[in-house]
Amino acid sequence: MDLRIQLNVSSKKNDQQKRTPQPSQNPPKTSTNNSKHEDRAAAGKPVRNTLLRKIPADEFLALAPYLEPVEFHNAACLEEADTRINAVYFLNGGMGSMIVETDDGRSVEVGLAGHEDMIGLPLAAGLDESNYSVVMQVPGDGFRVSADSIRQILPNLPHLKRLLLRRLAIRFLEAAQNAACNRLHAAKQRLARWLLLTHDRMDSDLIRTTHDFLSRMVGTDRPTVSLAVAELERDGIIRTGRGAIRIENRRKLEQRSCECYQHLRHFNGELELRK
Ligand SMILES: [Zn+2]
Repeated sequence: MDLRIQLNVSSKKNDQQKRTPQPSQNPPKTSTNNSKHEDRAAAGKPVRNTLLRKIPADEFLALAPYLEPVEFHNAACLEEADTRINAVYFLNGGMGSMIVETDDGRSVEVGLAGHEDMIGLPLAAGLDESNYSVVMQVPGDGFRVSADSIRQILPNLPHLKRLLLRRLAIRFLEAAQNAACNRLHAAKQRLARWLLLTHDRMDSDLIRTTHDFLSRMVGTDRPTVSLAVAELERDGIIRTGRGAIRIENRRKLEQRSCECYQHLRHFNGELELRK
């Protein structure tokens, strides 16, 4: 029964690996170049976050002084469930997983966020906390803006606000699709879907992961995930190595996924994911 996901995951209170993001050594002074979106930079760092690249130049200029460059390490917790959100993050690269943890310490991934998104999205709609945590699964870099700053300046950035509300709506659609997928589709289809969604947000074909981690992401037990991985490898679609999976045949992987990938992809088609 997929809705009663049997997961064996350490409690977030005891997770020694969880770290907060570390501000980089660069001073938070800001420079901008708005002749082309592709050339945008803040605090001396190129901007590759889709939302920051899509907003008009005047809004980016207004926001840029608040963008603090940050490196996101693996397992960094960017947003914690049931805790006041104190910052939002615009990823340039890397990927975070939205994870819901139940009172008995089990957890499951309920969504992904990469360079197409803002982490801390509930703030855009006036909520100060959420029911999921966001933990980095693929390291990357990007920018941090304090919650106080984003609350103060967002009313003056109507295009950004519109994009963020659109992201919220898309996230609702994704949650609805995920709910149906977790209940109705087979684990091997869900594994293919997760690999595709992750691949979309990465620069390389190599996804660093373990079967234990995949079982949490897919919402099933580890033996089931191991069987599904073995089947994909046997058919030449992926190749596994020590703690990593390489996508060998993306077209075939798409054929192995349930239709949910295409639905999720459709909603994110405008957001400069992998073509
Ligand atoms: Zn599905």
